[in-house]
Amino acid sequence: MPNAFWQVAVEAPIREPLTYSAPAELAPALAAGLRVDVPLGKRKVKGVLLGPGEKPEGFETKPIAAIDDEYAALPPKHLEWMNWVSQYYIHPIGQVTTLAYPPLKRAEKERKSKRPPVVPAFVDHAPHTLTEEQEKVVADILGKPGFQPHLLFGVTGSGKTEVYLQLFEKVLAAGKTGLFLVPEISLTPQMVHRFSARFPDQIAVLHSGLTDRERTNQWWDIVEGRKKILLGARSALFCPIRNLGMIVVDEEHEPSFKQDEKLKYHGRDSAVMLAKISDCPVILGSATPSLETWAHARSGRYTLHRLTKRVQNRSLPEIQVVDLREDEEKREEKLPSWLSQALYEKLVSTYEAGKQSALFLNRRGLAPIVLCESCGFVHECPNCDISLTLHHHSHLICHYCDYHENYKESCPSCKEGEMKPVGLGTEQVESDIARLFPEARVARADRDEIQTRTDLEDLITQMESGEIDFLVGTQMIAKGLDFPKLQTVGLVLADIGFNIPDFRSPERSFQLMTQVSGRAGRHVKPGESPGQVVIQTYNPDHPSLVAACKHDYENFAAQELAIREELLYPPFGRLAGLRIQGPQLDRLNEACSLVAGRAASLVSLHENYAAIEVLGPSEAPLARLRNQYRFQMLLKAKDPRWLNKFCYQLLSDESWIPAGVKISIDVDPLHLL
Ligand code: ADP
Ligand code: ZN
Repeated sequence: MPNAFWQVAVEAPIREPLTYSAPAELAPALAAGLRVDVPLGKRKVKGVLLGPGEKPEGFETKPIAAIDDEYAALPPKHLEWMNWVSQYYIHPIGQVTTLAYPPLKRAEKERKSKRPPVVPAFVDHAPHTLTEEQEKVVADILGKPGFQPHLLFGVTGSGKTEVYLQLFEKVLAAGKTGLFLVPEISLTPQMVHRFSARFPDQIAVLHSGLTDRERTNQWWDIVEGRKKILLGARSALFCPIRNLGMIVVDEEHEPSFKQDEKLKYHGRDSAVMLAKISDCPVILGSATPSLETWAHARSGRYTLHRLTKRVQNRSLPEIQVVDLREDEEKREEKLPSWLSQALYEKLVSTYEAGKQSALFLNRRGLAPIVLCESCGFVHECPNCDISLTLHHHSHLICHYCDYHENYKESCPSCKEGEMKPVGLGTEQVESDIARLFPEARVARADRDEIQTRTDLEDLITQMESGEIDFLVGTQMIAKGLDFPKLQTVGLVLADIGFNIPDFRSPERSFQLMTQVSGRAGRHVKPGESPGQVVIQTYNPDHPSLVAACKHDYENFAAQELAIREELLYPPFGRLAGLRIQGPQLDRLNEACSLVAGRAASLVSLHENYAAIEVLGPSEAPLARLRNQYRFQMLLKAKDPRWLNKFCYQLLSDESWIPAGVKISIDVDPLHLL
């Protein structure tokens, strides 16, 4: 007897699955994982069959309207995983399952496109002979079949990618498929080329630089088994890839694996769960592992593998710290206030040797603040609680909502004073370098300058060919890039990250300094002078900086973990953040006291809830954004299961939430601004 009722994940903001009846003519063909059309109110929406349902009491069910026969049923493991994602991150199941499908209908016939192919066809590229260290890692990982998380902790340039490539070879030889996740920004042509050269015609790619048509085609290539390895950013996890033999998450520490809107999930953690459900190994790779992953490796939950040396005995870069407070007297007059004599001299010698330098500053624009010299007026965004950034001496722009206005030099407030740019951005650094090195070719890499994948590809080509002498950029240049002629790296102002009010800011600073430094001198041969890094700072004793200079991840991690343990921050405690926002302050205040009241009564309900610490609600550090006022509440607990239950109960029925107020939840939040 076919099922008379089905549970359906409906593509709508409804937390739980809905029950529908199976009309006689469809019933025999229905199966879990199929995509269907179902009525919802007056509309018809898509949904996925989760499993048989029971006849509900007290109301009539509506019938399933049709099977969407474009798609085969989602594999049971994938369905199980999406269920977990929905439960763990407290997000409507139908808004999770919808992510399993491509953006467009399947192409009826291949259209010839003028764009270059997504994955270039390549002739086979032979693997390197592994070093002893690499060999051991590969053997150890292959020695543990089935589900097992591994941390591959290897310094920058130690040959991690080569290890992944050789492991994937074994996965394919065993007739299985592979998933390789990288942060969006590292999904460069360099990476795609390297994979497609090793596995000609076996690679599919999914990232945000593709058109909807390209994405749809890549999706079908994987789903129908024409391609065996999926290389993608975090959302590639949702592609229902079958027969998974291994997942790799490269640069696992990257915060960009966490999605901060809509479904607020962590790609790395979700990948570990997918591997568990698929019963295959998962490898997390990094030179600067997240402290969560490191703690798991120390405790033995994850197997730890190390690559301690760069390949071919290439040396790690030498790092010099310049104390900007002391440097000022030594400085030549022509130097701008942000540039130390020491860094300047390195830039000169690198340039004269025909090599490249990169200057890193995590702030775009010309100046982050413009201020009236006589009355102190500061240009602020009308929609956000944030000052406007000056760009090109001509525009003031909000980096959060993109509001912009023309810039005038006279003060709009007192009408007398003159506006003065304060602070530093990449545009200023670029123009100062161009002035100091008038013959040199200077390029800038930030979100203003590099807006498309083609922009990035062009920049990479110019860096590789040596057309560029100086590259100025934000964290866009901190990751994954590998330029043979890049000799010198300068961190213009390391302090920017030091004061962010977030318990992860020391970790982020350490990672960023190490990753940026790791771009220098990646190809120097033994005997050649190694890459050099200059870190400019007003806080030379900052623990993150001291540790990064010594390439001493392990002691740094131990110190940070001790602090986290004391404060019950992750990985020792778990967090959930509640964001309460809306355009009207009085309604928000009402919502805050309601939610605080609900939390307090839940805490007294159960002894396991009593162990949950409730912080706030209080104003978010960015108290107003896009004309929305923002409050947040933080929940801290030792046991993630009880925290999850608590959140479900707190938000269960939403009828108490005042109109115009939106409450959203972020489980394991990464950013608390
Ligand atoms: P990582 O991913 O750790 O930064 P890569 O795998 O990119 O390191 O290796 C750095 C460089 O060394 C690359 O150019 C790579 O081709 C090369 N390489 C990797 N392994 C070997 C090896 N065993 N022998 C020679 N060269 C290697
Ligand atoms: Zn704004």
